[in-house]
Amino acid sequence: MYDVIVVGAGFAGAVIAERLAKKGKKILVIDERGHIGGNVYDEKIDGIDVHMYGPHIFHTNDKAVFDYLSNFTEWYKYEHRVLGHIDDKIVPIPFNFTSIDELFGAEEAQRLKELLLLNYGADQKIPIFELLKSDDPDLKKLAEFIFEKVFKYYTMKQWGLKAQELDSAVMGRVPVVTSYDDRYFKDEYQYLPKDGYTKIFERMLESANIDVRLGTKSEDVLLLEDGAIYFEGERFLGKVVYTGSIDRLFNYAFGDLAYRSLDLDLIKVADTYQCAATENYPCPKEEAAYTRITEYKHFMIESPEKLSYIHIEYPKAYNRQMGDIAYYPIFTSDDEALYDMYLKVANNYPDLILLGRLAEYHYYNMDAIIAKALKVAEILF
Ligand SMILES: Cc1cc2nc3c(=O)[nH]c(=O)nc-3n(C[C@H](O)[C@H](O)[C@H](O)COP(=O)(O)OP(=O)(O)OC[C@H]3O[C@@H](n4cnc5c(N)ncnc54)[C@H](O)[C@@H]3O)c2cc1C
Repeated sequence: MYDVIVVGAGFAGAVIAERLAKKGKKILVIDERGHIGGNVYDEKIDGIDVHMYGPHIFHTNDKAVFDYLSNFTEWYKYEHRVLGHIDDKIVPIPFNFTSIDELFGAEEAQRLKELLLLNYGADQKIPIFELLKSDDPDLKKLAEFIFEKVFKYYTMKQWGLKAQELDSAVMGRVPVVTSYDDRYFKDEYQYLPKDGYTKIFERMLESANIDVRLGTKSEDVLLLEDGAIYFEGERFLGKVVYTGSIDRLFNYAFGDLAYRSLDLDLIKVADTYQCAATENYPCPKEEAAYTRITEYKHFMIESPEKLSYIHIEYPKAYNRQMGDIAYYPIFTSDDEALYDMYLKVANNYPDLILLGRLAEYHYYNMDAIIAKALKVAEILF
């Protein structure tokens, strides 16, 4: 009856389903959750659009992705800004010239900014590890200050690492900026969907060629055995696009892949809570166990004047038995080897396609997984 079974109704699954339905294929989408949208799912609560699995800001330089998504939503311009609580000040993150002005005396700040301009040029994004290698003693001192105050404890809390385990791959993600530009992202397209993200998914999946079954786990309807796929007990000759965890698909036969998880505390507050949409707490765990607080009303053009919702993020180790959500792949060399073992087994199933952040064990931003899914849909039929 179906040409394709898609496991997972996040962006990876929804894009595949929408594209193939458009080509006339019959698609079944299943998801174990009670809603579509995967981790991008949002809900209006008391007039505030809350991203239920943590804040999601759409940003891309990929015009094809932006044009594709624009078939399912209108947008409004939104440029994300983040503040960090450093000592007793609140300053822009990524660390920029305003941050320097706030944290150093006028004369010292002027000197440091001039040194940065002289050594790196204006409007540059310098990875902290590059700045730490500076030969200039004042810039080195600045780099050590920023490393300590902005990066070190935040990264340790986020990834559960000890200071000596911090590596440049993780630390390079948030740069130091040699200008007053305080936008968190510099991409050409920075928008939020006018009616929220979930509406995008509803529109993507509304085709008569798509059936959606929520509250359905893949292991309850699909069986993979000796290179063959079975759906509800019968041999399935179509394709399966699987966007869940690869270790789960093969019953954790070789062990669990490592992930980082989050406790997200959603709190209703009586008044506006903070100045920016997201405020970071890069202090040691002993001072604040959370990494950041997001206040959703700052994402909106219009929102209730007083009432507000905030999400407080407490990173933690992922524990499957506790029902945690696997948010971020950790991807050590051991995990890489484990992933390859699962991939070898998956390769015995020619009609199985692994796609998405869990199946590929890879961190994707929304635009990147949409781009990948569009490409896969193009070559699948
Ligand atoms: C906290 C956080 C913040 C983020 N913020 C941003 C941001 O600001 N901007 C940005 O571009 N990206 C952001 N991302 C990344 C974004 O969430 C991902 O790009 C996107 O969710 C990937 O889509 P996906 O379909 O691969 O996975 P998911 O969205 O996780 O969807 C997978 C779906 O498959 C279902 N599923 C899994 N296994 C099974 C199974 N065995 N049976 C049935 N159903 C199953 C799950 O229930 C889920 O609904 C963020 C990610 C996190 C964790």
